[in-house]
Amino acid sequence: MSKRNTMRLLRNTVIMLVLLVMMLLWNRVVIFAEQSSVGDGVPDGYMLIEGDIIVPDNYFETQGRQAWRENSWWPNGIVPYVFDTSFTSQYRDSMLAAMAELEAVSRIDFVIRGSESDYIYIQLADVNNSAVGRQGGKQLVNIFNWNKRFIMVHELMHSLGFWHEQTRPSRDQFVTIQFDSIKFESRHNFDIHSDAGEWGYYDFASIMHYPECAFSICDCDTTSSTCCCENSGQGRTIIVKPEYSQYQSVIGNRDSLSNLDTLSVMFAYPPVPWWKFCSKDADGLFPDGTFGNPYHTFSEGETGTSPGGVLWILAPGVYSAQGLHKKPIIIKAPLGGVILSQ
Ligand SMILES: [Zn+2]
Repeated sequence: MSKRNTMRLLRNTVIMLVLLVMMLLWNRVVIFAEQSSVGDGVPDGYMLIEGDIIVPDNYFETQGRQAWRENSWWPNGIVPYVFDTSFTSQYRDSMLAAMAELEAVSRIDFVIRGSESDYIYIQLADVNNSAVGRQGGKQLVNIFNWNKRFIMVHELMHSLGFWHEQTRPSRDQFVTIQFDSIKFESRHNFDIHSDAGEWGYYDFASIMHYPECAFSICDCDTTSSTCCCENSGQGRTIIVKPEYSQYQSVIGNRDSLSNLDTLSVMFAYPPVPWWKFCSKDADGLFPDGTFGNPYHTFSEGETGTSPGGVLWILAPGVYSAQGLHKKPIIIKAPLGGVILSQ
């Protein structure tokens, strides 16, 4: 080989090597950009409970839960959102499809944020989590499983004001929590929300129900664990009561909204003119019958609410309230925009 050819070969080899390194670096950049740099996405001053719910650090020291619940619905069902730049177009399309699932069954409308002060900010993270209900200001929805539509629907339902199904006050009638099988540091995730509203019957199929292996000591992902709950059923943390055993395989559904999920979203964010009224009794729970068959006029609601009770008017609008009203009841309009006219 001539000296000139040798030089040419050397030069081409160097160019090839430079190109190869550039390609590798580019791949790294692309790969890095697809991964999240925000970790679990939980901002300073906040922490996670129940695995995927963002609350302030002082959550357990305050009486915050009560206040959160009643004020946490989004007025008129309008939820402004912003996508972080990490949420590129394929993720956005996927999230918009998840939003559409909820918009299809309620008056919920996810809108691109304009100047609204309260909004959800959706970003990629290493895990999925969200606060429960409208917090005021910017609130995060962190997404890892951007390609699993109903996991995103689950997180969006948190942001709309829904807690986990198995934390409702009556849950011990329906499931047994196997505390011995739960990792010690995770046991708080199974606390009951004693003030939570209970809408309808206990819903094993809810998209908001934990799976049977949630937080199990038989953790399939931990090398130190000698058992794997998902594969063997060993170390299940939630066992359905024997009389409901047919639902054992149903809990943890993340494939679709259950019928009652749909009703609950409809009920909190009613597509006009459905689901206008609900009587709320003194202990703060929604009775089953009322959920399944809400009042449709103010008069019916007033008659059906006991003295000192609370009548919730869920859909904004003008309601005829003719006559003299002597019974002491409290009227609440959590979604606003309600006028009682003579
Ligand atoms: Zn959750």
